[in-house]
Amino acid sequence: MPIVDLHAHVTPERYKTGIRDVGSWYGLDATVGELHHGAFAQGLAERLEDMDRFGVEMQLLTPTMGFYQYENDLEVTKKIHRECNDEIYQIISQHPTRFLGMGTVPMQDPASAITEMGRLVGEFGFKGVMINDHVAGTTYDDPQFLPFFQAAEEMGALLFFHQGGPSCVAARIDKYKLPNAVGNLTERALVFATLVFGGVLDKFPGLSLLLAHAGGYAPYSAARMDKVAGALPGDFDGKMNPPFGPNDGFVQKMPPSEYLRRFYYDCCTYDGPVLRFLIDTVGIDRVVFGTDYPAPMFQHDPVEWLRGLSELTATEKEAILIDNSNRLLGI
Ligand SMILES: [Zn+2]
Repeated sequence: MPIVDLHAHVTPERYKTGIRDVGSWYGLDATVGELHHGAFAQGLAERLEDMDRFGVEMQLLTPTMGFYQYENDLEVTKKIHRECNDEIYQIISQHPTRFLGMGTVPMQDPASAITEMGRLVGEFGFKGVMINDHVAGTTYDDPQFLPFFQAAEEMGALLFFHQGGPSCVAARIDKYKLPNAVGNLTERALVFATLVFGGVLDKFPGLSLLLAHAGGYAPYSAARMDKVAGALPGDFDGKMNPPFGPNDGFVQKMPPSEYLRRFYYDCCTYDGPVLRFLIDTVGIDRVVFGTDYPAPMFQHDPVEWLRGLSELTATEKEAILIDNSNRLLGI
């Protein structure tokens, strides 16, 4: 079974051509595809060389996050997404032993997102879609997204939650790269919380969910979510008794921390003890291999890094590198 990197992005060549020839592509400029970061400007040949050098046999490709375009005109976003997704399909068709596909869908219109997700999963054999932590500021407990989650469950589409654009931390402080370093992890905890507290996970128990960057602060904050929900011993007598009154809107059936195992998490923590904590909190079977290639946040030499961690057993390393990823993707 191959080592599969489940967190890998690609900036489409057709976009690069547009930027090079006329300076824009569907109105997008060079920053969207992160061409200022050299690795995004590289082509497929260099990507395959990198994969060989790092011992990564397959990548699950997703479009670079700038292509979410949830705040753009819907028809423009739909065209951008079709082009991104078509190119990923082209790549996986040319190199079926090296790449798998995941697409992007226009979440600002859930009906359109469902249609495109159906095309990707049904026609292209994509494993699912990558979506932002929120949709132009709207969180996933909003009822408008229920049909989307229902469709994803029915299609068996993996939903990969991954940041895009400035995170919530940017409103407080927008320097030292904190909207990235702290904000992206905060956003991931909010995805977890809104899906749990909004009752989405109770409604759709069959959803297949992957949180980028090891779930951010979700595993670390789940106990505190238990406390606010009244689900810790002393508060919990079989039903949740929130300490702040009955009007906080808790509708979930189980203590929040019990939903941690409903998600998968990539291993992109950059730190052995943090990865150890993740495994101990969510279970080794929920952790998969993901590197953030070719972003500046890429975990350098990721296979060697993981194999060198003293905090993990050899069995755990192989589970992350091979078993869990292959099981999740149905390889
Ligand atoms: Zn990423």
